[in-house]
Amino acid sequence: MLSSNSGFQRLSQAAMSRSRFLRLAAGALLPFVGLRPSAAAAPNPELAQNSGAPGTKDAAAPGRMGAILVSRFGPVKIHSYLSPADGFHVNTQMIEGPTAVVIFDGQLQLPYADEVASYVQALGKPVDRIILSHAHTDHWSGLQVLTERFPDARVFALDGIAEQLRARGQARLDSFRPIYGDRIATKVTIPTETITEGVQRIDGITYDFKRFVDAESDLQLAALLPEQGVLMAFDLVFSPNEHAFTVVNHFDHWMIILESLKALQGYDTITIGHDTPVRRSAIDSTIAYVKRAKEIHAASADAKTYGERLKAAFPDRQQAGWVDFSARLLYAAPR
Ligand SMILES: [Zn+2]
Repeated sequence: MLSSNSGFQRLSQAAMSRSRFLRLAAGALLPFVGLRPSAAAAPNPELAQNSGAPGTKDAAAPGRMGAILVSRFGPVKIHSYLSPADGFHVNTQMIEGPTAVVIFDGQLQLPYADEVASYVQALGKPVDRIILSHAHTDHWSGLQVLTERFPDARVFALDGIAEQLRARGQARLDSFRPIYGDRIATKVTIPTETITEGVQRIDGITYDFKRFVDAESDLQLAALLPEQGVLMAFDLVFSPNEHAFTVVNHFDHWMIILESLKALQGYDTITIGHDTPVRRSAIDSTIAYVKRAKEIHAASADAKTYGERLKAAFPDRQQAGWVDFSARLLYAAPR
C-alpha cells in the first residue's frame, strides 16, 4: 500500500473541506481561474504546507471555469476536474498512468467537458478509454465532447448502462435543454464496451471494479485502486458539505451498500461524484443523510413537503437546489 504516504490523502484530509476549498479558490488559487493572472506563479504556502507532496492545483490555465486537483501516488496521478456549481459540481476523474490516461465520467455541460478535454490533451498521453460510472445525465452529457476530441478512446460502462441510455437518454437531455440550452449535449453517447466486475490492470494500474444496484441510481460502478488506497465511489458517497441526490426510493439498499463500503479496509481516500475527495467519515455522514431522507420520505405526502423537511434537517449542507431536483423525481411516476 502506498496510501499512507500519498499526497492525495494528506491533501484531502487537510485541505478538502468544502468551505476550505472555497476559501482557497477565493484566495490564493484565484489566479488559477484567471482573475489575477499576474499572481499565478506565486507559491501557495497553505497547500504546500499541508500536502508536502505534489498534490496541487493546476496552474497552467487562466480562465478555466472548473477547478482541478492533482494528486500523486508514485507514478500515478489522479486529476480531478470539479465543475462549477451550475454543472452540479460533478467530477471527471482522469487517472494518469505511465503511458496513458483513463477518464471517468464526462460532465453535464459541454463547455466543462471541453475544459476536461483540453486539460487531458495537455498531459500529452493518449486516452486509453473513457468509463461512465452510471446513467445520470450530469455524468455523461459531455461525453459528446470527449468522444469528439478523443475519437480513438472506447467508451466503457457496466452491462445495462447502454440500454438505459438508449431508452431514456434523449428524454433526459430534452428535459435539461430548457435550462441549459446549447450547453447540453445534442445527442446521447452510448457506451460501446462493457466493463466487467473484478480486477483489471490498465496501463499498469490495478482497478477492482464493483457493480452496485438500487442506490443513488439503479446501476452504479465503483472502482477500488488497491495500490493507491483510493475508493472511487462516484454517487454512492456524498460530501458532508452538500446535499445528496435522492431521486429514487432505494434508501434501504443504498444504506446496505454504504455499510459494505465501510467494511473495506485500506481505502482512506474516497473520490466522489460531486465535490472534492472525502475521508471515510463521509460514508457515515451519507448513511445518516439517506436514513433521514428515508424517514422524511415515508412521512411526506408530496415533493414540496419532502424538500422542505430535508432541507430543514440538514441546514448546513449546500446545494439546496439538489433537494428540489431530487424531490420532483422521487415523487414523480415510477421510472
Ligand atoms: Zn451525480
